[in-house]
Amino acid sequence: MLVSMKDMLNNAYHEHYAVGQFNINNLEWVATVLKTAKENRSPAILGVSGGTIKHMLGFKTIHAIVKNAMDYLDIDVPIALHLDHGQSYESCFAAINAGFSSVMFDGSHLPFEENLEITKRIVDYAHKRGVSVEAELGTIAGSEDGIVNSQVIYADPNQCLTMVKETNVDCLAAALGSTHGLYKGKAKLGFNEMQHISNLIKIPLVLHGGTGICDEDMLHAISFGTAKINVNTENMYTWCVAVGKLFAEQKDHDINDPRKVINHGLNPVAEKITERMKLFGSVNRY
Ligand SMILES: [Zn+2]
Repeated sequence: MLVSMKDMLNNAYHEHYAVGQFNINNLEWVATVLKTAKENRSPAILGVSGGTIKHMLGFKTIHAIVKNAMDYLDIDVPIALHLDHGQSYESCFAAINAGFSSVMFDGSHLPFEENLEITKRIVDYAHKRGVSVEAELGTIAGSEDGIVNSQVIYADPNQCLTMVKETNVDCLAAALGSTHGLYKGKAKLGFNEMQHISNLIKIPLVLHGGTGICDEDMLHAISFGTAKINVNTENMYTWCVAVGKLFAEQKDHDINDPRKVINHGLNPVAEKITERMKLFGSVNRY
C-alpha cells in the first residue's frame, strides 16, 4: 500500500516507536527496502533525494517503478514514497502530481516567515490530495547530495510551535545536533531541547542523519517523540564496501553479471535495514 506518512507516523508516535526512512538509489534498492519491510511486517518510507530524482530519471519514473514493484512483490505493509529535502514548492508540487505520497519542504535556509509561508502553501496543496508534509527548522550540519551546511543551528522552539499551528504540517524535522553523512566524532543531540519542543508541538519529530547516532541515543530520541528516523549514508557505505570486497577477492575470476554485483552489495544493506527496523521498534506492527 502506497500511503502518506500521516497514519504510520501518528501510530508510531502514540505507540512510542519510529519508522525508518531509507533512501533509494535504483531499482534494486527499491526492491530491497520493499522486501525487507514486508519480511519484517514493518512500515517504511522510501526517501528520494535531489540526486536520486536525476539518477532515476524523474518523479514519474520513480513513482512508476515503486508502484509497479509493490504490485509485483505483493507488498502489503504501509509504504510512503517521500521527497527528501524538497527545495521549492515547484519540486514538491511536481512530486505530488507524479504520485508521491509524501513530501518534505526544506526551507530551513530561508528566513522563518518565508519558510512558514511556502510550507503552508505546500501543506494546503498536499493535504487536499491525501499527501503528507514534513517541514524543517534549524540547520542540520554535514552534506547530503549537494546540500552542505557547516554548522548546526538548533531549531527555535517558538518557531516550531508557530510552524505546526499555522501550517498543520504532519511532522517536523527540528534540527538538534544531527549531521548528514558521516560524523566527525560522536553525535551530540540536544535531548533537553528535543523534549521541550516535543511537549510544545505534540506531533511526530523527525531525526535526520541517523548514521553514526548510537543505538541508545536513537531510543532516547524515540522516547522524546521522534517517530521518523532517516538512514541513508550507512546503507550506501555498506553497499560500496561489499562490492569493493567482491572485486578485491575475485580479481581474475568471472564477475560478468552486473545484476549479481548490485544484489551482492544489497544483501548486507537488507541486514542493516532489518537491524534498524528492530531497533526502532517498527517490526511486526502490520
Ligand atoms: Zn536530511
